[in-house]
Amino acid sequence: MPDTETDGRSLTRVRYETRLRELTVTAIRSVSPHLTRISLTGDFTGFQSLGFDDHVKLFFPDPETGILTLPNLGMPPGDGPKPVMRDYTPRRFDGRTLDIEFALHEAGPATAWAINARIGDILHIGGPRGSTLIPLAFDSYVLIGDDTALPAMARRLEELPAGTKVCVIAEVDGLDDHVQFETRADAKIHWVHRQTAYPNCLNEALKALHAPKGDVHVWVACESSQAKLIRQQLIEDHGINPKWIKASGYWRRGDVGAHEPIND
Ligand SMILES: Cc1cc2nc3c(=O)[nH]c(=O)nc-3n(C[C@H](O)[C@H](O)[C@H](O)COP(=O)(O)OP(=O)(O)OC[C@H]3O[C@@H](n4cnc5c(N)ncnc54)[C@H](O)[C@@H]3O)c2cc1C
Repeated sequence: MPDTETDGRSLTRVRYETRLRELTVTAIRSVSPHLTRISLTGDFTGFQSLGFDDHVKLFFPDPETGILTLPNLGMPPGDGPKPVMRDYTPRRFDGRTLDIEFALHEAGPATAWAINARIGDILHIGGPRGSTLIPLAFDSYVLIGDDTALPAMARRLEELPAGTKVCVIAEVDGLDDHVQFETRADAKIHWVHRQTAYPNCLNEALKALHAPKGDVHVWVACESSQAKLIRQQLIEDHGINPKWIKASGYWRRGDVGAHEPIND
């Protein structure tokens, strides 16, 4: 059940029972040259995802041994091989099908799996374990992220009520990687291209923009060191209240399976 909210601007945390599920690939679609949507079906009893930036754990065979190790839920980790797992956003769930969108980049096990996926393939997932809900009481919202954040940002844009003011800064490789966002919100979308401004194009884009007036909530998800810089820039240059920034490293250059919430 949701925690109590105090000032209408507090985050609400919801917990779910964590289950491991064996799902089957039913459809594969290229959303853009660097984004593939994979649809999965299976037993979704009890599956819930209330937050646009929830994540599920996806489990893959160890790239060295080819052995798939699954977690023993509810038990402390043993001495045996550790599961190879990566975090992904539940992009869309309609009660029967779960869509996950994979940004295609330098291939680790998750990306390699998505590139090679075929209809009928099996994928094991766990979670989401819970959701953190950002209230709708702010005057406006800003979403900043790279390709790995596109699924969460697209979901947020679909879920925001009509007329909500939202500004999106999205980093992709180039023009071909723009995706079509569906939204009833009053959205301004700024695309930035790595091809022309790598590696700090989100920071550069942010410099050129003025913070919206009023109380603004900013959500950031991208490479860890970049997310840290953006958070600092939001506070120091744009005067955003640190309490109203939710920033995360969705991956870390040179590291595997990184997930880093960025706070003080
Ligand atoms: C909460 C959360 C939600 C996420 N949701 C999504 C999602 O919906 N879709 C999605 O595509 N990703 C998402 N990610 C990011 C994804 O989990 C990582 O990119 C993950 O590292 C990919 O796993 P991999 O096995 O392909 O690569 P890894 O084995 O983890 O890494 C292999 C190499 O690739 C590099 N690398 C990892 N990611 C990237 C990247 N994006 N660009 C360039 N190099 C990279 C690593 O630094 C490493 O050198 C999410 C992450 C988090 C924390």
